[in-house]
Amino acid sequence: MNSDPVILISAIEHFAYCPRQCALIHCDSIWSDNPHTTHGKRAHRRVDSGQHRQERGRQVLRAIPLWSEALGLSGRADAVEIVGENIHPVEYKSGVRHGVTADLQLCAQALCLEEMLNTNISYGFIWYGGPRRRVQIDFTSTLREEVKEIVQQIREQILTAELPEAPNDKRCSQCQFLQYCLPELTSSPNRVNKYLTELVFGCDT
Ligand code: SF4
Repeated sequence: MNSDPVILISAIEHFAYCPRQCALIHCDSIWSDNPHTTHGKRAHRRVDSGQHRQERGRQVLRAIPLWSEALGLSGRADAVEIVGENIHPVEYKSGVRHGVTADLQLCAQALCLEEMLNTNISYGFIWYGGPRRRVQIDFTSTLREEVKEIVQQIREQILTAELPEAPNDKRCSQCQFLQYCLPELTSSPNRVNKYLTELVFGCDT
């Protein structure tokens, strides 16, 4: 029996954004909401309803469970659209695009659907609520390989249970873990002194 941990599809986006964020959520089971995530949860209500519908010639199935035995993945698609013989996963994001992080998550959903339904899926869509735009994402061989590589890295992260160093860069100001992660403090080479002087004794060095 394969004892490798099953990876949640959502972990791919977390890891692609910041490996430390992924470890906090998926190794340490920490969760924290900020205004961005709270807004995202509210905006997701319709998707989470699981109500399927017919929209402009497309059949839209919502909240569809996904898995891949080959990759050891499980999760859920916000929506799966069926147009004739073609199947496309659709992901809803309340905000704006952050590089390819969501593309990787969507591609992982496509890999699951391909295995589950024994089909080929060449593209899917991400709806961004910020600009109110639907973006087509092509599932190139490069994107597919990147997904598989990240899944492997997440699996190693879970097995070793190591918390990566904080990159402490522009990603942090948008991150819901800012107050737990303390990136400025934990990325410092003099982190113990810094902790004692700034947080415990309340003075600058
Ligand atoms: S605060 Fe920064 S380093 Fe910490 S988890 Fe978030 S993005 Fe990563």
